[in-house]
Amino acid sequence: MKRDPGALQAREHDLLVIGGGIAGAWVLWEAASRGLKAALVEVHDFGQATSWSSLKTAHGGLRHLQRADLAGFRESVRERRVLMRVAPDVVRPLGFAIPVRGAIDAVTFALAGMANDLLSVDRNRWLRADRSLAPARLIGPAEAAALAGEAFSGQSAFVWQDAQITHTERLLLALLHSSTDATAIAINHCRIDTCVRSTAGFDLQATDLLDGGKIAIRARAVVNASGAALETVANLLGETCGSPAMIRGVNVVLGRRFGLDVAVGSRDRGRFLFLVPWLDRAILGTVYDDGVSPVEDLSRELVEAGRRAFPWAGLEPDDVILTQAGHVPGASNGEPVYRTCVIEHNDPRLLSILTAKYTTARSSAQTAVDRIARALGRRIEPSVTSERLLTMAKPLTGTFEERMAQVRQNEMAMTRADALRGRLIEGALSPSVDSLDSEA
Ligand SMILES: Cc1cc2nc3c(=O)[nH]c(=O)nc-3n(C[C@H](O)[C@H](O)[C@H](O)COP(=O)(O)OP(=O)(O)OC[C@H]3O[C@@H](n4cnc5c(N)ncnc54)[C@H](O)[C@@H]3O)c2cc1C
Repeated sequence: MKRDPGALQAREHDLLVIGGGIAGAWVLWEAASRGLKAALVEVHDFGQATSWSSLKTAHGGLRHLQRADLAGFRESVRERRVLMRVAPDVVRPLGFAIPVRGAIDAVTFALAGMANDLLSVDRNRWLRADRSLAPARLIGPAEAAALAGEAFSGQSAFVWQDAQITHTERLLLALLHSSTDATAIAINHCRIDTCVRSTAGFDLQATDLLDGGKIAIRARAVVNASGAALETVANLLGETCGSPAMIRGVNVVLGRRFGLDVAVGSRDRGRFLFLVPWLDRAILGTVYDDGVSPVEDLSRELVEAGRRAFPWAGLEPDDVILTQAGHVPGASNGEPVYRTCVIEHNDPRLLSILTAKYTTARSSAQTAVDRIARALGRRIEPSVTSERLLTMAKPLTGTFEERMAQVRQNEMAMTRADALRGRLIEGALSPSVDSLDSEA
């Protein structure tokens, strides 16, 4: 995978994707794997924005059940299964447990567990045995204590299994590798400046931010997958999105795992927090705000809330090794919206994707590419992205220096910061190995 700005202007693309987060990467793979000539332009670096900050859970959709959103629940169950099928080396089962307090909790969770199992009866179809998920259940205090030590001292718990995307950065890069192997073009550090639309398609002018060079791009259709910049990019393309306001979400990566083998949840002042084991670390999240105050304030607030929610953990501000922040669509009550939507514009050759979850990005990509093909009057192959193995979705091996050289050579890491933020696990595990803002 080489950075080649010249290739961008050497052909007319069937589809140009703007934005190289998880949404854009899935759209590129969906389009390329179905025979469309596709290209992707990312203004900074691939996967460095909200997609870098996820709590790494491939959600099966219990939140949708709470809202009686059956379609959202089924979509999440299917997409969690797809992720474990196409990227089994970086997506694996993870247990979750929350305390059950009193009879009402017990009845509510028992019903939720039954509904969850009944409605996700196909959750393990096609999966390897070591990737299949056990049913949800209520467990008594003794079993809860055995499962998560002090977290449940003397309390019953509701337990279920979801999945964890242990290496989100490798999943995203794998999508770009598979796409570029199949004739797609992807480029980072490139900004779209202008767009002129005609009956033939879209004529866009872009700037290569590494050398200031101008690039002319021709595409028959465009998908706007620019995350927090969705409205700005839609405006640049001559449209509006009318999408809900974005809210900021924050997680903190903690320097230890707290002896946890399962993620534990607990309520703090009406909201649920999760302490999630991740490799030899843990991640605490997620809190949301309007994004006005400095991110450090929200990070501090999160740690305070974590201390109240998980008093047994002895969480200290010094445990925080990294604060991760990103943007998701928000509802009027300040809570995130959990359903991704593909927004149509006046011109059917242009779509915008408002991504609510990392987990379901593939499914919205499939919808988008189906619609684009229809708008272009193109008969394309059926989608294969739910079953085709992403061969590069594996943790990188080798010493730090070897992996650094590898991503610089083969993955368009133009700076150390690109390598650490978007490609090497050290960027999130031990950011002190180097500055994440390094330009060198
Ligand atoms: C704290 C937090 C925790 C979360 N945890 C989970 C979780 O556990 N599970 C889950 O399923 N979901 C989770 N989510 C949601 C999930 O992370 C997001 O929905 C998803 O990553 C959004 O992906 P995206 O590609 O739409 O956006 P982004 O990752 O933000 O990508 C958009 C890209 O577009 C680029 N761009 C912007 N403007 C331009 C332009 N003009 N030209 C070119 N490129 C441009 C940006 O630089 C960026 O790279 C979480 C979100 C947050 C904030």
